[in-house]
Amino acid sequence: MTVPPITLPANARSAVYATADAEGILRRQRARESSARTYARSFPIVPARANGMTIEGTDGRRYLDCLSGAGTLALGHNHPVVLEAVRRTMDSGAPLHVLDLATPEKDDFTDALFATLPKPFADRARIHFCGPAGTDAVEAALKLMQTATGRRGTLAFTGAYHGMTAGALAATGSVAIREQVAGSGSEVTRLPYPYAYRCPFGVGGERGAELSATYTERLLDDPSGGVVRPAAMILEAVQGEGGAVPSPDGWLRAMRRITREREIPLIVDEVQTGVGRTGAFWAIEHSGIVPDAIVMSKAIGGSLPLAVIVYDQDYDGWLPGAHTGTFRGNTLAMATGAATLRYVAGEGLVERAAIVGARMTARLEGLRSELPVIGDVRGRGLMIGVELVDPEGPLDSCGAHPVAPELADRVRSACLDRGLIVELGGRFGSTLRLLPPLVITDEEAEAVLDRLTDAIVEAAIVEAAIVKAAIVKAATAGRRS
Ligand code: PMP
Repeated sequence: MTVPPITLPANARSAVYATADAEGILRRQRARESSARTYARSFPIVPARANGMTIEGTDGRRYLDCLSGAGTLALGHNHPVVLEAVRRTMDSGAPLHVLDLATPEKDDFTDALFATLPKPFADRARIHFCGPAGTDAVEAALKLMQTATGRRGTLAFTGAYHGMTAGALAATGSVAIREQVAGSGSEVTRLPYPYAYRCPFGVGGERGAELSATYTERLLDDPSGGVVRPAAMILEAVQGEGGAVPSPDGWLRAMRRITREREIPLIVDEVQTGVGRTGAFWAIEHSGIVPDAIVMSKAIGGSLPLAVIVYDQDYDGWLPGAHTGTFRGNTLAMATGAATLRYVAGEGLVERAAIVGARMTARLEGLRSELPVIGDVRGRGLMIGVELVDPEGPLDSCGAHPVAPELADRVRSACLDRGLIVELGGRFGSTLRLLPPLVITDEEAEAVLDRLTDAIVEAAIVEAAIVKAAIVKAATAGRRS
């Protein structure tokens, strides 16, 4: 197993790092930060340095990072191209913050971004710079379409994740998350996403996707169906937080046809799928659809916060100031974003994501035939999901065993013990999600899969032992009573 060395200049250790005490930092974090902490709970490490896909903790331990800032780091950590863009911009004297004023960096970023877009979309595109998070851009896209159509509602899908602000949260599928916000989602109509492994119609595969499209069409046309014509449909071409669930290209084309025929704007949320991750620069390219708006964030900022919506000029009905915000002119993010977009496009990283992703998925598929706790392996490019199941549990009508969230939790910890950062997602958090950077080397890909395999085997053995002990205990208790 080769872990690439962290290559940093000798003086790179900051004064803070030199005196860092990991236990103390983690203790203070637990004491001072909100109970909404998420990743910090799953990964109790203190990253001090990072390079490529390797993170080094203050304790000197190294981890291969398959989370990549929740899919943000297309080029991994601290890529030379990104660092050069930061240094160049800082040395140039450019203002770092200018609201939404024009700057050479913003002009250049817009050029770089538009050059990546499918031509029919780019030719008619307008861009709006939003607040820096993905959720800000989702919010802006929904509002844009409400203004343009004069309607209110949204069509969104089961399993979707669009963010944590009110409108984006309403479109998100997770009941657990939405229950915490009173009244959220009142104007969202939930539609079935074509999740082949746990098909909402109980049939799976292509047939499930066809049923999902038919259901959507019939519901929208039913005068007693309860759906007032909405302002927009929003969807992910590959659901990310939903567990790396790709939608079939034919289904996406059906959604485009259905929305176009009914004059419902189609928003594609490419916050996680964008910038090469799925083996196409934008995930919509797999199906060839032209949406009315694309939501972009994460990787477009090249490690720094940046979010935009790009949409058809026909929808540009906002009045001046209709959607403002202070942090919409982060010069450094424009520079790192432009550098990243050009590097991904120019260095063949999109094709590389497709090739390495297919290779990793094939090896995981092989593992699935040996390890019954792996129920499903899926994804597109370097957006891979491994759904863990309880193989002793009953099969449902799609042929899927019950989810195994505790096992998934154990695998995540066993991965961390082996120097691998892997996050969970999907229904009940039962899916291991692999989001390595597009610059992952062949050796790193092998190392990720070796560690993951070991972790799954170990966790499955522990799980089986726990189940066996529980059965023995119950039998013993039964004999006593
Ligand atoms: N949309 C999608 C598809 C996402 O994956 C995410 C974040 N995981 C968001 C929106 C929200 O982005 P942010 O966390 O930056 O608000």
